[in-house]
Amino acid sequence: MQDIILIRNLSFFGYHGVYEQETRQGQRFILNAKLFTDLDRAGNTDALEDTIHYGMVCEFLVDFLTRNTYKLLEKAVTESARATLLEFAGIRKMEISIEKPDAPIVLEFDSVGVMRTIGWHTVYIGLGSNMGDKKKYIESAVKKIKKHPYIKDVRVSELIETKPYGGVEQDDFLNGAAVFETLLSPMELLEFLQKLEQQAKRKREVHWGPRTLDLDILFYDDLVVSEQRLCIPHPDLENRRFVLEPLAQLSPRFRHPISQKTMLQLLNEVPE
Ligand code: ADP
Ligand code: MG
Repeated sequence: MQDIILIRNLSFFGYHGVYEQETRQGQRFILNAKLFTDLDRAGNTDALEDTIHYGMVCEFLVDFLTRNTYKLLEKAVTESARATLLEFAGIRKMEISIEKPDAPIVLEFDSVGVMRTIGWHTVYIGLGSNMGDKKKYIESAVKKIKKHPYIKDVRVSELIETKPYGGVEQDDFLNGAAVFETLLSPMELLEFLQKLEQQAKRKREVHWGPRTLDLDILFYDDLVVSEQRLCIPHPDLENRRFVLEPLAQLSPRFRHPISQKTMLQLLNEVPE
């Protein structure tokens, strides 16, 4: 979405700051924002209900930033952007900056401030279990995922029974996948999923061994990262039918960001 609604130099009085003088006396803040959205429709219909009402966004932001007080502008931009994205569903992404023209610095300057870009990301995750009441472990994780304040539009594939992978003697697996929109960063999402795994009392004794719950990030938009703690797209996904089957069911035409092959193509090519 390349279309943008602009908010320039919206000014408000607030109490954000680290210093006592700032939290007691307050000061003026300047907010700038770019709201990334799709204006195709409004560009044709000329109807207010087909676009984002910038007046309402301005009022929402000023209200939010006067009702809540933060020490850091970093936190202020993050929280106000997240709240705005949750309130106005048509905004896919926003760039926001907040500046202090009268920051407590005894030097000559126009202003100091913080800018961030925050938006919705499309994420695919793998769901797996092969211990105890497998269906219940997966369903309870999905319920918690749906309840997360920064996750929306969750779709879940059918769950399929599969033989264990990796040559360790153990019970059959139940596998599936889910796709959703999230405001969480990849690392924040990983931490959330690991918390759910721990809540399912997952024991990590044998690599590729039995587990009550396994939640893997398969794709995060078209992001490619390969760090030890986090590898996206999930490595070895092309070789796992029990991952590709649910993915192809959710989004057959979604393309792997490296090979550019669709989920349907990858499923048709997966070795037996
Ligand atoms: P696997 O899911 O490969 O069968 P584990 O769930 O035991 O094995 O692996 C967990 C480790 O993998 C975690 O320490 C985590 O940091 C790391 N990891 C790397 N990339 C990912 C990813 N995309 N999703 C989930 N965990 C990941
Ligand atoms: Mg895992």
